[in-house]
Amino acid sequence: MPSGFGTLVPDMPEVSVMRIIRFLYQQREYWGAVEGQTVRFLAEPPFVRIRFSRRRCAGNAIRLLVPATASKIVLVGLNYRDHAAELGMPLPEEPVLFLKPPSALVAAGGLIRYPAAAGRVDYEAELALVIRRRIRRIKPAQAEGAVFGYTCLNDVTARDLQKRDGQWTRAKSFDTFCPVGPWVDTRFSPDCARIRAVRNGITVQDSSTAHFVFPIPYLVSYISSIMTLLPGDIISTGTPPGVGPLQPGDTIAVDIEGLGILRNRVARR
Ligand code: MG
Repeated sequence: MPSGFGTLVPDMPEVSVMRIIRFLYQQREYWGAVEGQTVRFLAEPPFVRIRFSRRRCAGNAIRLLVPATASKIVLVGLNYRDHAAELGMPLPEEPVLFLKPPSALVAAGGLIRYPAAAGRVDYEAELALVIRRRIRRIKPAQAEGAVFGYTCLNDVTARDLQKRDGQWTRAKSFDTFCPVGPWVDTRFSPDCARIRAVRNGITVQDSSTAHFVFPIPYLVSYISSIMTLLPGDIISTGTPPGVGPLQPGDTIAVDIEGLGILRNRVARR
């Protein structure tokens, strides 16, 4: 059922942004670019180059999909100085990495399903980036050319299971525990962006990417020294202070200034 994107960003900018979406239209999947309240179709996936077709449709005739086709989602833990201070933890000397499976992905507007196995499920607002081309062992200076664009990500976490298991795979990997979207902005500047989580209309995380421990070029270089990154792979850059629990029925939004709003509702299984 079409849901469109009209409610996700009320103040849709007119020009000078390139917001790439993947979407369902008349039961078929497409890539496109948001232009005001309409969608301009792409002729092919956008990673190598952005080539438009002549087709357009109304924004309210589509259903958004996750705007990346990830072979993996690589996430960074403890990457905000203010979050480390909040936890009373020393700053890490190297990035702390973990993975989520692509089966955890859910688009803007989709449901986060609260698992029966979990006693506490938290939101974590994060800025994520999408990889443009296959990269392996690149230098930080090469990272900018390897990034296709930026999007919002919610690193949903079963906090009790994270503590109980001693490692994070189960806690981070339930289906729907990785909302991403609503689009990839290819011109977003990630260096000093306000990032917030808003639960049921109340701001619960409010920080800036200026507080990163490891900057994005370093992260991309570091991760590429471990694993080959492929077009459409997602890297998430960690969460600021203020993580907290969700309940079924809640609406949770990751709001990154100048980028967009990723809004999802929590449902009981
Ligand atoms: Mg996180």
